[in-house]
Amino acid sequence: MLKPIFAATALSTFILLAGCSLDLSNDDKKEQKEEQPISQDTETETNEKSDSNESAQRQVEVDTTVKPAQKGLQTLAEPESIPVLVNKQYSLPEDYKPDDLFYPKVDFIFQDKIEKRMMRKEAGEALEKMFQAAEKENMHLAGVSAYRSHQTQISIFNNYVKRDGEEKAKTYSALPGTSEHETGLAIDVTTHDGACAAQDCFGDTNEATWLAEHAHEYGYIIRYPKGKESITGYKYEPWHIRYVGVDTAAEIFETNSTLEEFYNAVPVQAVTDK
Ligand SMILES: [Zn+2]
Repeated sequence: MLKPIFAATALSTFILLAGCSLDLSNDDKKEQKEEQPISQDTETETNEKSDSNESAQRQVEVDTTVKPAQKGLQTLAEPESIPVLVNKQYSLPEDYKPDDLFYPKVDFIFQDKIEKRMMRKEAGEALEKMFQAAEKENMHLAGVSAYRSHQTQISIFNNYVKRDGEEKAKTYSALPGTSEHETGLAIDVTTHDGACAAQDCFGDTNEATWLAEHAHEYGYIIRYPKGKESITGYKYEPWHIRYVGVDTAAEIFETNSTLEEFYNAVPVQAVTDK
């Protein structure tokens, strides 16, 4: 189990530095790369992708002035960045609140106009388009839960700890500051009838299959895929989708990878656990 992960990590380090696409089989690029210092290699290759400079700089920006709430946790310096990596290793700042939240015009499994119906502008607008496209193919989706404030995440997590204890709670619920729902870029979805909301059975529906195949076209990824538990640190959640932008989503979809792998930031804890 470990070896492929480490091999992939080592390879993707090279690939990120070389600023090229995720073509693991192409060794020619190594020679090109060695001719120039890696910090100045952004012009070494022509690539149809216009964002090759950006991908060469893919890094999780950390604010080292903030004292982490927990051992092993780091605080993100750019929480408002659309492809921001929030996980068991990287936490949002405690006082972070997105400044462009709104209510996307999509159905939820409830009627109330409340916090968990909100999303950031770009993510919500993409969600509207995606739900409309799904409807056209007879896929009836509805929102279950989108934005969650830091305070709400604290309450939710504490309730799970009371019920199951902290160790177990941490396997399925995020520590406050580390939930993607706090970004306003993630949403749990289900079928329009509300059955299987946040349950494994959603994975067996046509809607889940449609999402897995098409979400990236709208900038979304299935954030916690099957078989990637040791990388994301979360069990498979077919219903939790995350907006990362169309280019990032396409790359993650095409390479069958995760946001952690996109940043070459597989949590150490997750790797050593397995
Ligand atoms: Zn979720």
